Amino acid sequence: MKILCIGRNYRDHAREMQAPDPAEPVVFLKPETALIRPGDAFWYPLFSQDIHYECELYFRVGKPGKYIAPQFVWKHLDAYGLGIDFTARDLQSRLKQQGLPWEISKAFNGSAAASEAIPFDTPPHVPDLTFELRLNGEIRQQGQPADMIFSIEQIVAYASQFFTLTTGDLVFTGTPAGVGPVQIGDRLEGWLQSRRILELDIR
Ligand code: MG
Repeated sequence: MKILCIGRNYRDHAREMQAPDPAEPVVFLKPETALIRPGDAFWYPLFSQDIHYECELYFRVGKPGKYIAPQFVWKHLDAYGLGIDFTARDLQSRLKQQGLPWEISKAFNGSAAASEAIPFDTPPHVPDLTFELRLNGEIRQQGQPADMIFSIEQIVAYASQFFTLTTGDLVFTGTPAGVGPVQIGDRLEGWLQSRRILELDIR
């Protein structure tokens, strides 16, 4: 499996990153080695001093496909959940300044936490999937999927032109404003529709 991620998909987060709204989805991948499964911890890597959390709604691929048309996207998805796109912001900023790909700052080992997936038969009403990220019990991010620049249909249709989606892939849909650093000893919680579905310790 792989994790397909969308950058800058919430206007308030694009603002806080001092970046313009993208004209097309900003797509990047994380490999299977990036995945932190439920119950595992995030191990602060040696190569960064500025790891940031980005809490995101994800959808799971239940049926493979490529060149998926927007009206057929839901036939390829079978579950949703919350994820954290960990980012080595110091590495990313340096690479961006140099005009280089920032892959290593986003796709490193253990850079993607995912809650248990919540399966569905009929597609959810996405704007209802509001979520929160709490750091040591304090609310830091509040996500309103209605504020996404590109819808899940647009994201999957666009990205599947380039990357064949395979069963078990996760599609991370971008983070709202409020991203920030984590420290060793912190505890992160992801709340979806007022239910805690993700707990993660930083070690
Ligand atoms: Mg992100």
